[in-house]
Amino acid sequence: MVKFQRKFEEAEIVYNFDDVILLPRLSKVEPKEIDLKTKFSSNIPINIPLVSSPMDTVTEAEMAIALARHGGIGVIHRNCSADEELELIKTVKRSESFIIKEVITISKEAKVGEAAEIMRKYKISGLPVVEGSKLVGIITGRDVRFTDPSIKVSEAMTKDVVVAEPSITPEEAIELMKKHKVEKLPVVDKERRLVGLITYKDVALRGEYREATRDDEGRLRVAAAVSPFDIERAKLLSKYADALVIDVAHFHNENVIEATKKLVKEVEVDIVIGNLGTKEGVLDSVSRIDRVAGLRVGMGSGSVCITTEVTRAGAPTLFAVAQAADALEEIGVRIPIIADGGVRTPGDVALTIAFGASCAMLGYIFASCKESPSPMTIINGRYFKLHRGMGSQSARQKRMALDRYATFSKEIPEGTEIWVPYRGEVASVISEFVSGVKAAMGYAGASNIVELQERSKVARIASRKEKSTTSQNIEPIK
Ligand code: 5GP
Repeated sequence: MVKFQRKFEEAEIVYNFDDVILLPRLSKVEPKEIDLKTKFSSNIPINIPLVSSPMDTVTEAEMAIALARHGGIGVIHRNCSADEELELIKTVKRSESFIIKEVITISKEAKVGEAAEIMRKYKISGLPVVEGSKLVGIITGRDVRFTDPSIKVSEAMTKDVVVAEPSITPEEAIELMKKHKVEKLPVVDKERRLVGLITYKDVALRGEYREATRDDEGRLRVAAAVSPFDIERAKLLSKYADALVIDVAHFHNENVIEATKKLVKEVEVDIVIGNLGTKEGVLDSVSRIDRVAGLRVGMGSGSVCITTEVTRAGAPTLFAVAQAADALEEIGVRIPIIADGGVRTPGDVALTIAFGASCAMLGYIFASCKESPSPMTIINGRYFKLHRGMGSQSARQKRMALDRYATFSKEIPEGTEIWVPYRGEVASVISEFVSGVKAAMGYAGASNIVELQERSKVARIASRKEKSTTSQNIEPIK
């Protein structure tokens, strides 16, 4: 009798976004001086604490490109075949790069008609001309347009090519292109072998998106969701993706942990595990798996999630973040924590950081933007976009991400579908969030993410019934 009764007494109190508030503290900086640099995973720095959910109404290439350009990172969903997911990742990687490594070329012996065909097919405006691996010329749209398609490329190409050395910087490349009025710079080694290509469009975009999240080659960074049980997909995607996110609803599961232990050995990129919700779950997972580079935490708080209604199980996002942060503190390990589920406002993002997160993952908010892959509709003259849970009936029909929820509820959906009001381009939503998080940090007296994690104080909001009374209802808990 007492044993079970004690469960009430020993029960932890779980908090989420509506239960706490950031307390104002002495501020030494103005919001515009606040630095939002943080990490997605151990080896992936990002410039803003925003990540998009791996959901098929949220993140495909267009969303991942937009987020990375603005300093965050997108996680491509896995409700598609491995080849389709790979293609989405490659699209992000190809979208911008300083030096393109996989250059499409043409032989000097080929016909002008073939060159025109390749340019049309790949939507490019010029091709380096090679003899073996050596650069011998360049042929552009202008060269082929008024030329007999049956003559050889070597007769129509420009032979006197302006080239760059592999060590060239973006600034030097722009200068060289301006000086010679060219838009393409083949990169050659000392033996004049073609090793890359720089296009004006790519270097110009670099200037436009100074805060972009890029890899060492200047390409936008992107992460990819995988099942822990699909090692082949993980191996394939890890050749291009910057990080893999082990995407299951309940990571603290014997089979999932064992499968992830094996998967980690097969790939070299950062591995983010999740979702986790308790200190125990984090300690078990981190102690048993090598190279955990990120923790995705929060269970049951997502906008389209009905797990808690259906199962009465869950770990609200803020609670899960605090649990994970305390677990890591206990063992003296630093791994970025990604707060996932239910984030609606910039203040919610700031709160997740105050409780120890490095960044927040958003589904609902990004699903509402132009760049999400979800369909748009008009209801009563207003635009809406679809957002659906990956455990919803309709997402399950594709059967690709079935194992995210299937282990526990083969028959019962754990997600639903909603229409979210259309918000326009993600760039303006990101900028609204960035300003809002900075404003929150200004109030909290934090000039960077670490200060918000370490120094901020929060207060607990009294229950709704009492809420309307006085400030006495706000009680500091940190
Ligand atoms: P949102 O930002 O929409 O509130 O939350 C997004 C998060 O909800 C996702 O990153 C994922 O963790 C979670 N999620 C996505 N689909 C489902 C689902 O069908 N059921 C549950 N329980 N959670 C989901």
